[in-house]
Amino acid sequence: MSSTPTGDIRIAGLSVHLVRWPLKMKRRHGVGDIERTMPGVVVKITTDAGVTGWGEASPWAVFTGTAESCAAVIDVYFRPLLIGADPTDVTALMNALEHAVVAHTEAKAAIEMALLDILGKRLGAPIAQLLGGFVRREVPMSVSVANPDFDEDMDFVKRLAGEGVRLFKVKTGFLSHREDVRRMDRLRAELPADTDLRIDYNQGLEAWDALAKVREMERFRPSFIEQPVPRDQRAALAAITAAIDTPILADESVFSPAEAVEMVRTRLCDCVSIKIMKSGGIRRAREIAAIAEAAGIAGYGGTMFEAGLAIAAGLQFVASTPNVSLGAEFYTSTYVIGVEILATPIVIRNGRNVVPTGPGLGVEVDERAVRSVSVDVRS
Ligand SMILES: [Mg+2]
Repeated sequence: MSSTPTGDIRIAGLSVHLVRWPLKMKRRHGVGDIERTMPGVVVKITTDAGVTGWGEASPWAVFTGTAESCAAVIDVYFRPLLIGADPTDVTALMNALEHAVVAHTEAKAAIEMALLDILGKRLGAPIAQLLGGFVRREVPMSVSVANPDFDEDMDFVKRLAGEGVRLFKVKTGFLSHREDVRRMDRLRAELPADTDLRIDYNQGLEAWDALAKVREMERFRPSFIEQPVPRDQRAALAAITAAIDTPILADESVFSPAEAVEMVRTRLCDCVSIKIMKSGGIRRAREIAAIAEAAGIAGYGGTMFEAGLAIAAGLQFVASTPNVSLGAEFYTSTYVIGVEILATPIVIRNGRNVVPTGPGLGVEVDERAVRSVSVDVRS
């Protein structure tokens, strides 16, 4: 006799933690510099069947929104739609949230993460298997070079290169163009010859002279140049893509599946950064990957400032999605955020993230660690 795994489980509680992650290093980007701490949100969904799901939102004020509004959206608008519902009806619940509140993709990603965590634990399978199974069990890790102290950054990068990391993404556009060229020169000269360098402007150039600057960067043979111009300068981005040989990657310009359709229609880019915090969760991230794949546009696994839960969810997504072939930047929980909220940290081996294979997200949360960085808890 077997019992049905769904239909007899209800959401009993929801805790929303507004947290402040301490940071191990400063970060500079085209926009949105980060000094000592970064706000975030952690959610815990409890059920009447004893299964608990965890999620994380990683909002960034200059990109997807603020952590304070994210926590409020979950607490005030999502809570009544979730309490008493069957958490295994993930798609139906996420559609309800989608129709209840516009945008707030990171709040939706956090809830979807917790629901899929519950579903996976209920079925005894990692989320990657719920989505069709593993296409990769390890993901090449791309580390971003974004410290304003470049000497400190070179030490960090060389240490990681010694540990087997071969993908580095250099954040440019926050210093002068001349300084960016100097940094790239030094990285090319001092890193192993097989290092795969990428460049990310984080919208840092102005459209009118972006092409000339981007073109000059081609001599460093980056495998792609990311988001040189502001999000809304899509015509300029498409023009740069058409003009140069180096692949152009869109990040801030593509959040949703609908924007991915536009990306294809306008041939906006050659590759795209897919982030569950932009799309509103793993399922929509996979829709973007599929749209891109059909158009011959390669996917890259992007992140925001994510602690272990969001990284675990990202790994489940990339592990099960063929068209994320350019690696993924799942390094922040290990190297940037100064508190570990997972009982067992994400494993990095030879410059690759190892995908957890336990049920759901495949990780366990250290609740004491979450509480230690919580500045406001609503339950
Ligand atoms: Mg980016």
